[in-house]
Amino acid sequence: MAYDPNNIFARILRGEIPSKKIYEDEHTLAFHDINPLAPVHALVIPKGEYVSFADFSAKASDAEIAALVRAVGKVAKDLGCEQDGYRILSNIGQNGHQEVPHLHIHIFGGASLGRMLN
Ligand code: 5GP
Repeated sequence: MAYDPNNIFARILRGEIPSKKIYEDEHTLAFHDINPLAPVHALVIPKGEYVSFADFSAKASDAEIAALVRAVGKVAKDLGCEQDGYRILSNIGQNGHQEVPHLHIHIFGGASLGRMLN
């Protein structure tokens, strides 16, 4: 999947569309999902233009990769998910039913989630 610079998360990063920000640093932004599928449903994205995890892991700097991983852990903790647990998930490409072609990590929590999310 090619990177579309007008995808919705690119527009959020440019400030063209509002989002409920949770965390931001030089390389990463985290915000609440607009259509939450759990009591906690956050999205963590790199600021760089990466579509997939393969794309990100091959092309991103070590600082960008570390920032994303650290942000996921921090956001999960700050949203109160650490004690009872949570799920992280990234939908990639057609088989993964990725809707937005900018890499994003979902964080689900705040309730028992069952074995998998459909
Ligand atoms: P995907 O299926 O690509 O993994 O998930 C995309 C996610 O982005 C969905 O959970 C959807 O609700 C969320 N989303 C789509 N548009 C917006 C938006 O404009 N703002 C926010 N905060 N989330 C969005």
